[in-house]
Amino acid sequence: MLVIDGSQGEGGGQIFRSSLTLSMCLQKPVRITNIRAGRSRPGLLRQHLACLRAGRDICDAEISGDELGSAEVVFKPGRVRPGEYRFAIGSAGSTSLVFQTILLPLLLSDAASEVCLEGGTHNPHAPSFDFIDRAFLPLVAQMGYRVAVELEHFGFYPAGGGRWRARIEPLQEPKPLDLPDRGAVLREEALVTSAHIPGHIAERELQKIHDKCHWPQENLCRREVDSAGPGNIVSLRVVSEHVAEVIEVVGEKQLSAERVAGRAVRALSQYLAAGVPVGEHLADQIVLPMVLGKGGCFRTLKPSQHLLTNIDVIRQFSGIEVKVQRENGLAWSVSV
Ligand code: ATP
Repeated sequence: MLVIDGSQGEGGGQIFRSSLTLSMCLQKPVRITNIRAGRSRPGLLRQHLACLRAGRDICDAEISGDELGSAEVVFKPGRVRPGEYRFAIGSAGSTSLVFQTILLPLLLSDAASEVCLEGGTHNPHAPSFDFIDRAFLPLVAQMGYRVAVELEHFGFYPAGGGRWRARIEPLQEPKPLDLPDRGAVLREEALVTSAHIPGHIAERELQKIHDKCHWPQENLCRREVDSAGPGNIVSLRVVSEHVAEVIEVVGEKQLSAERVAGRAVRALSQYLAAGVPVGEHLADQIVLPMVLGKGGCFRTLKPSQHLLTNIDVIRQFSGIEVKVQRENGLAWSVSV
């Protein structure tokens, strides 16, 4: 049986999730060892356990190691069954990461699926629902994948309690991704979302973005939402001719509003200066849809450890080489 070492490279949860996805799509049993060995609390957390159980449910997999803190899992996939599913994490763990784990197996099956996800929708260090909706899905749509999503309830970390739905259509016409350039920038905008926190926080974040980016007032928006607990997220979106990039920073208690907005603006400046279409986080998230679809190429920022590790896991599973080449100081190309 294929063995994937969860301590390699980045040593985080993505090695585990990508392994589950590849196991289901390629119908290859896998033993994943040293899960999240590179993290301060290694082993499976609730989010990873939810990914494992969601994977089991959609393909009747035989599994072992199905418990919190588990450092080793065996996953033997059965045939993927499209259908109606509800996956509740039972904590504020990221629903987007559970979604991404089961997305490709369902997309590559032979009928549509309806999936309801419950837990965290806007978490630090994970794609938010908005990132999935406004950056990730539009890009995978360029590869022929058809998915519609709808948010029903916000769930900020740590209270969680969010809920959203996805309709996943079977892939009919896969296309290679061809994204060397972003084309002209058409629109730049900021959206600050807050739940149950004082109004001055969003105002100060927008003020900081205005001071640094000089965007017109109508491109600086604020949204007050309901949620089980407090939350705040700054979201900057750059819509270009060929791609939309979303840069998000989640507000934290120990971080001033100005620093939250400042982090987002710095990441935005790096993206704009590099002149590439694909940002750091999208880069590591789109290689799997490319490998399991028709491949292709894109230009991006300096590859993150997440991207390089994901590429290694893909090679170990499938033998497919994803090439990463430096083009100049700021731009890199990735091809499948
Ligand atoms: P851990 O790091 O604790 O193991 P994890 O299971 O959340 O946790 P990671 O391996 O760190 O897993 O993967 C996190 C994923 O979230 C990566 O795909 C990364 O690109 C993505 N991500 C992180 N921050 C952002 C962000 N601000 N916007 C979009 N995506 C993000």
